[in-house]
Amino acid sequence: MVSRPPQYCPRCGSPLETITFESRERKRCSPCGAVIWHNPVPCAGVAVVDRSRAEPAVLCVERGVPPGIGEWTLPGGHMEIDENPETTAARELEEETGVSVDPDALEILDATALPPQNGKHVTMIHYVVDRAHTEGEPAAGSDASAARFWTPAEFDTADEIFRPIHEDRFRTVADRSE
Ligand SMILES: [Zn+2]
Repeated sequence: MVSRPPQYCPRCGSPLETITFESRERKRCSPCGAVIWHNPVPCAGVAVVDRSRAEPAVLCVERGVPPGIGEWTLPGGHMEIDENPETTAARELEEETGVSVDPDALEILDATALPPQNGKHVTMIHYVVDRAHTEGEPAAGSDASAARFWTPAEFDTADEIFRPIHEDRFRTVADRSE
């Protein structure tokens, strides 16, 4: 299984042929006789919501690596092979913002297929947690050039861009009742 459209067999390096199998166009290695599956990649992330303010604010990170350098988003990333998604979300939160949380405190929000980027399809599992269940002050960590709480209204008055595929979630999670 590969995460981007394959051209060569990952086992033997042969160029792949295109076949129709199980109602879809697939790639197959003729020498190995194997279909090379192209599947979505699971990712997980968490929105930390601070409800102690007049307006709920959400912990966001400014991306320091491609794609979308300089755009704001919610903390998250790829699952490691031995992780549960809530463990991934908590680990990525701490890596990117320095804020820590017990994975068991995370509440699942939803799971969605994100729009593909360069042939890579991501299935994102989204969590939410109240700021009161987290520890530490936000400080930009790996992959992030800044980390801070934003209310949607504050964000609208700033000269900043939110990463389009995650903007809806940023705006709706702040309004969501407990
Ligand atoms: Zn092969």
